[in-house]
Amino acid sequence: MKIFDKAFRVMQQLESRGYEAYLVGGAVRDHLIGKQVGDLDIATSATPNQVMQVFDKVIPIGIEHGTVLVRFEGESFEITTFRTEGAYSDYRHPDSVHFVTDVTADLARRDYTVNAIAMNRNGELVDPFDGRDAIERQELVTVGNAYDRFHEDPLRMMRGVRFVSQLGYKLDDDARNVIKEQRLWLTRIAIERVAIEMEKLCGGNYVKTAAHLLDETGLWEAMPIFCDQPELMSEVASRIKPLGSFAEWIALCSLLSGISVMEWVKEWKLSKSIKQDAQNLVQMIHSDIDAWSVYQLPVHLDPGYCCLMEICKERDVQDELSSIRRKLPISNGSELAISGGDLISLFPDRKKGSWIRDLLLASEKAVVENRIKNEKNKLKEWIIHGHDA
Ligand code: ATP
Ligand code: MG
Repeated sequence: MKIFDKAFRVMQQLESRGYEAYLVGGAVRDHLIGKQVGDLDIATSATPNQVMQVFDKVIPIGIEHGTVLVRFEGESFEITTFRTEGAYSDYRHPDSVHFVTDVTADLARRDYTVNAIAMNRNGELVDPFDGRDAIERQELVTVGNAYDRFHEDPLRMMRGVRFVSQLGYKLDDDARNVIKEQRLWLTRIAIERVAIEMEKLCGGNYVKTAAHLLDETGLWEAMPIFCDQPELMSEVASRIKPLGSFAEWIALCSLLSGISVMEWVKEWKLSKSIKQDAQNLVQMIHSDIDAWSVYQLPVHLDPGYCCLMEICKERDVQDELSSIRRKLPISNGSELAISGGDLISLFPDRKKGSWIRDLLLASEKAVVENRIKNEKNKLKEWIIHGHDA
């Protein structure tokens, strides 16, 4: 419980003013399962204004939903007032939020019973929907009627499949059937929010099971690009291994569908870093494994690359890749022994321009390919005599 010590002190401060406070959500769930705990969310009977009076450093990050961020002993905690929610006509924010004083009413608005357990600072649980039982049975059951809960917020369908991927639990039959029948409700959700769940899904150990579930329920029909490629999700599901990242999933989808990474990025509104990683992976899959191509592949993509090579080309390249990587004389451009400044002083009469970048790149490639030693004088000599750029 050591990880909770600070959160418990935050809760104690609230309790000392007469309010109730509990740890809620993913942290309680993951702690009970024995998984590593992520962010710590606190729920309280105090209203946001009352919370602001208890702590010195408070940032009102989502005050209309009752959430404030409290800085406490160098850490941040999200503190949310117990609330119930009305309908979601914009499928993003509930139409009305009612603050309540009863923790059970707050737990009732949560999506799955495993996520609807509260813990007080003595470690005692409030578990009105039998979330612990669901953990024992390894089952994801909606709090209340699945049809109503998914109708209120269709993102919960996607969250369910994401938890299948992260926890390896079974999605309960009711939830699964409603997803099958009402899968197109998901199209009402902004793609960015679906992508966030997809990103977490891709990191799960049970990604293969989750991909089969996306296929079998037809949830793919509510997803850009997949909806036009009826076989794609089933192909992904049959081939995918726990890859670890969304970029790797996108690279695989692009390789299987023949649709460019750019198009995936545009349709799914993905971030620049996912775009770059996915493009790097696809490019590398199409290249030879030589010093220069390995050098250009960011090292964090090595596991994904090996996995994709196994999936797409049935080749185990791990040893080859690590052996090339170990022998690389430099690992990035900043280690090159010559700089733009050196080149300018080497050619004082030349006007500054793209020749500097071209020469640096040529030098980098020559060093990486072991054609020249990474030493300033050797490089200068090579540039003056041995190089025709
Ligand atoms: P993670 O490990 O990814 O943080 P989490 O369960 O903590 O998982 P969050 O998105 O951080 O998920 O949400 C915190 C809690 O808020 C959830 O555990 C759940 O109780 C509730 N919650 C989040 N999103 C929804 C939703 N769309 N509908 C109902 N309850 C939700
Ligand atoms: Mg969380």
